[in-house]
Amino acid sequence: MTTFYSWRRSIAFFLLLSVFAAGCSKDPDSILPEPDPEPGLEDIPLLDIADDAFLIVSKDNPDGPNGAEGSAKLVDGDTTTKFLVKDFKFVNVDFRFDSAKLVASYQFTTGNDFDGRDPLDWKFYGSKDGQAWTELDSRVGMQFRKRRTNYRFYFKNDQLYTHYRWSVSKVYGADMFQASELRLFQMPPSLQKSLPVSRVDSTTQGDLKLIFVNHSNKEDLAYEANLKNVFFTTYPQLLEEYNPDALKRVYFIVDPTYDGVAYSFGDVIVYSFDYMERSPRDGDVVVHETMHKIQAGYQGNVPGWLTEGMADYARYRFGIDDPDPWSLPDYSPSHEYNGSYGITARYLLWIENHKHEDFVKELNDALLDGVDYRDFWIQSLGSSIDDVWAEYEQNPDI
Ligand SMILES: [Zn+2]
Repeated sequence: MTTFYSWRRSIAFFLLLSVFAAGCSKDPDSILPEPDPEPGLEDIPLLDIADDAFLIVSKDNPDGPNGAEGSAKLVDGDTTTKFLVKDFKFVNVDFRFDSAKLVASYQFTTGNDFDGRDPLDWKFYGSKDGQAWTELDSRVGMQFRKRRTNYRFYFKNDQLYTHYRWSVSKVYGADMFQASELRLFQMPPSLQKSLPVSRVDSTTQGDLKLIFVNHSNKEDLAYEANLKNVFFTTYPQLLEEYNPDALKRVYFIVDPTYDGVAYSFGDVIVYSFDYMERSPRDGDVVVHETMHKIQAGYQGNVPGWLTEGMADYARYRFGIDDPDPWSLPDYSPSHEYNGSYGITARYLLWIENHKHEDFVKELNDALLDGVDYRDFWIQSLGSSIDDVWAEYEQNPDI
């Protein structure tokens, strides 16, 4: 707009001088129009410019940049190919341009498989010399529920840089990183936008670190303090009782796009924003989910109904909610020992109350050692899991 006004001003000035010129000897031709203005930021077209850059990564696939899963696959325009890094610590993906660009958006495409290799934390930088880097965007605790899907990010930027860097510092807990595509977009300021920035709060107590990420637009969550309190109160007890080697650095992510209750995955526990808003007192859900971190060390094939039953057992035993909106179900003849969650938890509790006091702790130790759960039932109780269940059915009172 500045350019437009300055042209209008000079045309008006020119006309004014032309009128005066009629009565004096000054030659109006000596008033030259202003030179063409330099192109402004607004003149920069919206473009995907990833193909214009020279790509450099801090660590490539073992087969090299042009291998089947090399870094060249990041910018080949094909979302069925991917870039895969093994023994992941961090990865910098640098785009070097011949001329400075105004990038204000980038798009990442998930790989075809193993979502544990998705990026979790990263920063995005610009640089004018490839030496000094300016942070343009930062993301923590990101989640991607769909494979081979584009996820686009925006930020505001009014500087032209010749270098851009996507620096991924954390994946979900796998030892590999993968991405199908990475595209960069030039954007004039009038088209730029910024995504809502997630609120991130880290708390350290002893050797435990909790990174609390709020992806919702609501600033103050009524249950945040409760979730943190349950974590720092009960997780040390779970670690001591079941597995001192389990994860010490845990992400809690409050996610408005998730419509379940909560789930545990890699280093992360995701809580549904909608569920927690409806159930702010349900803080002991933390005990169930963190028990899954303990169970990450299990060897061999442990069925899901057993890990869920043990997680609900842990919630029953270690939970601190008072009053507690959650409880174990009453016994019903329709139950089976593999009914999962509270049904299996109640059976485990009955075994401890009637047969063997430390049964779940010893079962947990056996599963960490790779013992088959059916063998453990016989070793510990002298009867099969079915026979002990039949006893439970005869007298199901806890
Ligand atoms: Zn669970």
